[in-house]
Amino acid sequence: MSDNSCVFCREVVGKHRASVIYETESVIAFMDIAPVEPGHVLVIPKKHFVNILDIDYEDYLEVHRVTKYLSPFIVRAVNADGINIGQNNGKSANQRVFHYHVHIIPRFQERELKWGRMQAENWQLEEVAEKVRSEIEKNGSSEGLFLK
Ligand SMILES: [Zn+2]
Repeated sequence: MSDNSCVFCREVVGKHRASVIYETESVIAFMDIAPVEPGHVLVIPKKHFVNILDIDYEDYLEVHRVTKYLSPFIVRAVNADGINIGQNNGKSANQRVFHYHVHIIPRFQERELKWGRMQAENWQLEEVAEKVRSEIEKNGSSEGLFLK
């Protein structure tokens, strides 16, 4: 189940053309190319589902398990104070890529809470991705971390 007109299926799942931080058999997580804040990660199923209405339970649960698993490593990697988990369904809900995805957006006390996107260069994304990967490698388990 893959849709060649879908940028996530074609570029991310198909060609790994993204700063991938983590992957399971059915899920892949990578840096958003237009982050709201540094460390903004997207978690997607490898199979093509459009939104919450058509995704099957198995893939839904795996996407959200991985979201929970990765969150503390992202917090550590960018030294965040908070985290938003976001998931948009449909144009009117601000969904822009029609392949189910969850946003992990780190937040920082001293910065204004905003939703606008920034432009990021590949090397900048890769720099943060490398920090997250090294947190995963160092820690393995993400239990026992609390937000400041
Ligand atoms: Zn897709």
